[in-house]
Amino acid sequence: MYNLNEKICNLQPYTHSSGGYKVRLDANESAFELPCNMLEDITSIVKNIDFNRYPDPTANKLCKAFAKFYDIDYTLVTAGNGSDELISVILSAFLMKNDKLVVCEKDFSMYNFYANIFEIECITFDKKIDLNIDIDNLIKCVNENNAKAVIFSNPCNPTSKTMSKDDIVKLINNVNALVILDEAYMDFWNETLLAEIQKYDNLIILRTASKAVGLASLRLGFAVACEKISNAIKSVKSPYNVNTISQEIGTYIYQNKKYLLDLKNYIVNLRQTLYNSIKEIESKYPNKIEVIEGTSNFIFIKTPYSKCIYDYLLDNDISIRYMGDYIRITAGKSEENEILINHLKSYLFKI
Ligand SMILES: *Cc1c(COP(=O)(O)O)cnc(C)c1O
Repeated sequence: MYNLNEKICNLQPYTHSSGGYKVRLDANESAFELPCNMLEDITSIVKNIDFNRYPDPTANKLCKAFAKFYDIDYTLVTAGNGSDELISVILSAFLMKNDKLVVCEKDFSMYNFYANIFEIECITFDKKIDLNIDIDNLIKCVNENNAKAVIFSNPCNPTSKTMSKDDIVKLINNVNALVILDEAYMDFWNETLLAEIQKYDNLIILRTASKAVGLASLRLGFAVACEKISNAIKSVKSPYNVNTISQEIGTYIYQNKKYLLDLKNYIVNLRQTLYNSIKEIESKYPNKIEVIEGTSNFIFIKTPYSKCIYDYLLDNDISIRYMGDYIRITAGKSEENEILINHLKSYLFKI
């Protein structure tokens, strides 16, 4: 009999709500479809693709459009099939089996997931009670464990907490390890280190088109690093990792700077309105929910009723993310947020 090895024998395939619910506030995607005129442009772009040919392995046009949008040097950019793929490629190649990786708790769950598959040893660094990171302790943790890398998201998914540029620079300068900085939500905030990427020889910044850029379906992620590291990432990724359709559409979207900035501002406003509404509910029921100030496109809430709230909302066709003592709610369209707020209110009133 063939036995699966111990690192994979208990794994189950990743699933998500797959559009089964009317109001989907569980995956931090953008709630907004592309406007009609852009869809028309995209249709003609797709018609001109050479479907019989392999994609450009360097995703040159896409990396140029991305780099121009963020005003950085395109040669330092590597495109991936979602930043998820890049996390996987980087962890598998830059660390050896049994090397140590520092991962913060709470943070994005995929870091541990890939590390386990690559037989990397994860060292868990606990955040403070208020969910912030004590940077001096994190530096100590990396150094005392002789870790080869540290990975974290800023702003953080799921906590929505942020770290300052100064703190992160302090970390980069005081560890003898690779710093993998996941800026998946940095479009919604303003402490990016993208502009300073060339200064550091131990930093990789990850960005994605799945959140503020609104292209989760295309699977587009980016790694930005100094020349030496970029060259290594480009050398270890699989050659045709980003398909031509995604390259072409991604290029077109990143060239529409005004559209992207407007979309981002619109989402930030919706998140702020959602936050204010939930904060108001909190003031009525301070023992039932505790809201954390949002900095991204979602709201993180501590509540002893997390599971009941989650189940109640699902019964009412609204999906959010259940996370133990917490729930995470993505800011949706205005009417979706209203439906959510109304159900949340009526449920908290009942219990
Ligand atoms: C959503 C998310 C990603 C994944 O982005 P993809 O490009 O869609 O793979 C990476 N990091 C964090 C923190 C995220 O929340």
